Amino acid sequence: MSEPPFRILPRVTDRNRHFWTGGASGRLQFLRCQDDGTYVHPPAPRCPKCRGKHLEVEAVSGQATVLTYSVNFQPWMPGPELPFVLAIVELPEQEGLRLTTNIVNCDPESVEIGMPVRVIFERHDDGEESVYIPLFEPNAET
Ligand SMILES: [Zn+2]
Repeated sequence: MSEPPFRILPRVTDRNRHFWTGGASGRLQFLRCQDDGTYVHPPAPRCPKCRGKHLEVEAVSGQATVLTYSVNFQPWMPGPELPFVLAIVELPEQEGLRLTTNIVNCDPESVEIGMPVRVIFERHDDGEESVYIPLFEPNAET
């Protein structure tokens, strides 16, 4: 496996560890309210809908669709190889459950709004615990 590109890595805390390390087992994970089923992202101590505190970590399917995207050609900051696709994807599990991510493993020209994608994880070993950045690639199976 080649070296992952440089990224500014998230700071892993007890509150978001499930999200940034779920990729170790191939799982895209969110906090979910056990009372009304709301996925809570970014992680928060209470459900934004019912204000309940009964939250548990649950994995989602890893499927998503491209909501909006831009292709970046300018090296305006240290980051992935150019050009790269910066996108917001929405998960089918809940309206408004979105991630800002990169679309990878495809020609940037081929990315379009509404395109089905699926999660893959880019592992970074930094400090005492590995971080798994969720990225998305075209989902050829749909
Ligand atoms: Zn709730």
